Amino acid sequence: MYYYNFEVVLQEVPGEISLCFSISGCPLRCQGCHSPFLWKEGVGDLLNKNAFEEILNVYNNLATCVLFMGGEWYEKELIELLKLAKLKNFKTCLYTGKEEVALAILRELTWIKTGKWEQVLGGLNSITTNQKFIEVKTNKNLNYLFIKN
Ligand code: SF4
Repeated sequence: MYYYNFEVVLQEVPGEISLCFSISGCPLRCQGCHSPFLWKEGVGDLLNKNAFEEILNVYNNLATCVLFMGGEWYEKELIELLKLAKLKNFKTCLYTGKEEVALAILRELTWIKTGKWEQVLGGLNSITTNQKFIEVKTNKNLNYLFIKN
């Protein structure tokens, strides 16, 4: 699988410093998509096990979580990278536009964000959102962490 970009982010997973990989080839085509450059398959750099491990090694003592923006459409590769991240003591999160993902992926996640982008409903920081940020272990909805008072 290929990633369009990689950045260190602070807000997408509350309380965590996350290494965020935006995976290209998104098949969902949400209306009003904020990242249509992610639709085309094979865009960006190859994210194989070696390339991923090199990045994890650089940020080993700085970041706490690995976050994938998509990639569930490459189930086998994604699971392999999630397992590697866990082995190196990173927590794991997936942002997907789907309502659910394969159980084999879910098992490797600490958190998952589900739900398509619906412009009129807003994202996680909106009280009307259709999206959910879930702690996988407890199945608890943690959307309240994104809502500013
Ligand atoms: S899931 Fe995200 S990247 Fe894919 S079409 Fe929807 S908004 Fe765009």
